[in-house]
Amino acid sequence: MLKILMTRFRQGCRTMAFPKRKPPVLPARYRGRPLVAGLEEIDLGKMTFVPDSGIRHSNDFRMATCRRQDLVLQGETYALARAVNRKIVKLFGRSLKLRQVSAGGCNACEADTNVLNTPVFDLSRFGIRFVASPRHADGVLVTGPVTRNMKEALLKTYEAVPDPKIVIAVGACAISGGIFSRSPEVSRGLDTIIPVDLYIPGCPPHPMTILDGFLRLLGRLKKE
Ligand code: SF4
Repeated sequence: MLKILMTRFRQGCRTMAFPKRKPPVLPARYRGRPLVAGLEEIDLGKMTFVPDSGIRHSNDFRMATCRRQDLVLQGETYALARAVNRKIVKLFGRSLKLRQVSAGGCNACEADTNVLNTPVFDLSRFGIRFVASPRHADGVLVTGPVTRNMKEALLKTYEAVPDPKIVIAVGACAISGGIFSRSPEVSRGLDTIIPVDLYIPGCPPHPMTILDGFLRLLGRLKKE
């Protein structure tokens, strides 16, 4: 026991200081928001961010938006997510409970969402937590392309969340069907089924992109 305590003492606090201090520097191989110079347009809601696609990437992880059309990059300007409205900020700005719905994805988006609960990100310090019951939730966070089999379960979960509620689409699959979009078994995007308040692109999105999107939606992070 003493050994464990000594190790923890030596390690110190592992939780990142973001957003009070600068965000962590992501590795050189990280592929963030694309550099669109010379390209016609890129839809981040469909992108898988694979290497060797010929697209150059910055290491900017800030990509979440409130409107689907803002994910279509046509220049260097980008409309990052902002607080939904004053009522939502007042209600959920200091305490937001989310029910996660895994609607047919590959589990990578879920893994990168789960990692926010580790000591490094410590999501609960912002008052954001995942809960088991939709009746205890303020919103739903959806991953995966919403397969035919998951559509009813998603709708039931959505309806069980009391109003007003927030809907968050995480990953290319939830936003547009992603790599499964040509299949007749999946939807063409979560917003064809229920209204979406926050789009977080990526395949999967980096945890920093997800955290940044949450904080912007709640008005806790306003800087561009
Ligand atoms: S967006 Fe990519 S990582 Fe997320 S569920 Fe779909 S295929 Fe998997």
